[in-house]
Amino acid sequence: MSITPLMPVYPRCGVRPVRGEHCHLISEDGRRFLDFASGIAVNALGHSHKGLIGALQKQAETLMHVSNLYGSPQGEAIAQRLVDLTFADTVFFTNSGAEAVECAIKTARAYHQSVGNDEKYELITFNNAFHGRTMATISASSQEKMHKGFLPLLPGFKYVDFNDLEAARAAIGPNTAGFLVEPIQGEGGIRIADEAFLHGLRQLCDEHDLMLVLDEVQSGVGRSGTLYAYEQYGIEPDIMATAKGIGGGFPVGACLATEKAARGMVAGTHGSTYGGNPFAMAAIGAVLDVIADDEFLEGVRATGERLKARLEQFIGNYPDLFELVRGRGLFIGLKMKVEPRPFVAHMRDNHQVLAVSAGDNVVRVLPPLVIDDSHIDEFMEKLSAAAASYKPEEVS
Ligand SMILES: *Cc1c(COP(=O)(O)O)cnc(C)c1O
Repeated sequence: MSITPLMPVYPRCGVRPVRGEHCHLISEDGRRFLDFASGIAVNALGHSHKGLIGALQKQAETLMHVSNLYGSPQGEAIAQRLVDLTFADTVFFTNSGAEAVECAIKTARAYHQSVGNDEKYELITFNNAFHGRTMATISASSQEKMHKGFLPLLPGFKYVDFNDLEAARAAIGPNTAGFLVEPIQGEGGIRIADEAFLHGLRQLCDEHDLMLVLDEVQSGVGRSGTLYAYEQYGIEPDIMATAKGIGGGFPVGACLATEKAARGMVAGTHGSTYGGNPFAMAAIGAVLDVIADDEFLEGVRATGERLKARLEQFIGNYPDLFELVRGRGLFIGLKMKVEPRPFVAHMRDNHQVLAVSAGDNVVRVLPPLVIDDSHIDEFMEKLSAAAASYKPEEVS
């Protein structure tokens, strides 16, 4: 037998974390890493956060799980908080980002089918998008590397270029149910939707009675410097998926919708055994206690600006390695002129700092939202040392 007990679908690196301390990870062999990856935008409060631990401990002792067959005072309270904080009127809780997007897709289709437009089932999505790894969510992505081996895809998705409003308009047909879009593409390389593009999609949805579905699984929960990135555009979606940071490390997500958009989601149409159980609700509550706060979010924006300014100054010293810095809040991309993956490995293995590569030759810089200037200093020192010692041609 040569297959590993852990199904070998991830090319895992040699870092084997066993403990987390605030913004650092400690590996099995005792090495200490500055964590500017945050479990890919998940550990928004860093590691070992007292508030999150306390909330989970307390909830574990009280009641961890009950079925959605029963009333949920815990779910009602968190759903009400999300409704108060966002565009939404109603919330379905999931266990992951992909499931939140799945629920968003079902909600968009059910809207049209509930008003008798059964032919409107198609979502227009955008090149280089990432929406998850389930059958529907890989079908929603144009990226062929995620399709290979898993054909046939689910019908009902059409891809056009990101930030190309004319292409989006031209793609609308009799089967169109709406648009599914990340306001800031994460895996795609921190590509930011233009203001005119998102406004244009909103307008097209209003004109044609289509659903604007936002995937804020990565950009949301303070990552972009506001609770959700859409706030910075002055538009509101009809449906939105959130996950990653919302549990601070506990696996939980949610699909949010307006009353109008959710008109097809009636009793018996959707479900999840674990979705929104009291343990997950305790995690969201502890995260929102910190992040859903104007002063905290202002701090994320200010810290993000300082980090971005330092990065912009730094890349000037290495014009052969780096092209530009982009992003919002602490959702930052460092676009390289060389392959980012081996550079991220070099940072990790030789300078003990974690970041994540993405599409479009980008290194994603995703620190916990609770960093202070000492972490920025440590990051810039390690990044500078990594750039100074990097020889792209010698690394494969
Ligand atoms: C990570 C991600 C997902 C999928 O979330 P999972 O929890 O891995 O299922 C979906 N959409 C976006 C934009 C993401 O970044």
